Amino acid sequence: MKEITILDKKFVEFIPENDIHKRVGEIAYKINQDYKGKDVVFIGILNGAFLFAADLFRRIDLPARITFVKLASYTGTKSSGSIKELIGWNEDVKGKSVIIVEDIVDTGHTLERIVDEMKIRKVTDVKIAAALFKPDAYTKTIPIDYVGFKIPNNFVVGYGLDYDGYGRNLPSIYSLIH
Ligand code: 5GP
Repeated sequence: MKEITILDKKFVEFIPENDIHKRVGEIAYKINQDYKGKDVVFIGILNGAFLFAADLFRRIDLPARITFVKLASYTGTKSSGSIKELIGWNEDVKGKSVIIVEDIVDTGHTLERIVDEMKIRKVTDVKIAAALFKPDAYTKTIPIDYVGFKIPNNFVVGYGLDYDGYGRNLPSIYSLIH
């Protein structure tokens, strides 16, 4: 078992790099099928989704665009529940097919906030791609259309996800050891 330490916490390898890359390829394949002949805008949610968005996007063979927005709701290892401001909208998404790219869907507060924003901005349709999904923590009803891995309700880092700013550069996903 590969163990690492970040600041004061220990983590164990949970989803190896190869498994992630294989799964991202499968999701890209599915999106390429589902959106054949369509123009699509990917919206990556910063900071956590930057690696997943990059890996996914380079495997898309549609006429696609990508933009990133920022909306953070986390400090430390527990969701604060409070939603911060949305910043960085520079793409006109009105009348477009949009795929929101999330690192992880936990309670779903973040996702709901973004989907609401999509409705205000009058997108034609919106789907969600999340590298990770915690079904046991999810409190919303919005379907997560493309899920990398369903995971238990435990804190994870790596592949874009951080613990107090560190760990985003880890190519595998690691789970907190209690
Ligand atoms: P939600 O709004 O769904 O509760 O939380 C979504 C956001 O919380 C994610 O985009 C991510 O930034 C953060 N988050 C949720 N669970 C985890 C986790 O296990 N590890 C890390 N590093 N961040 C998480």
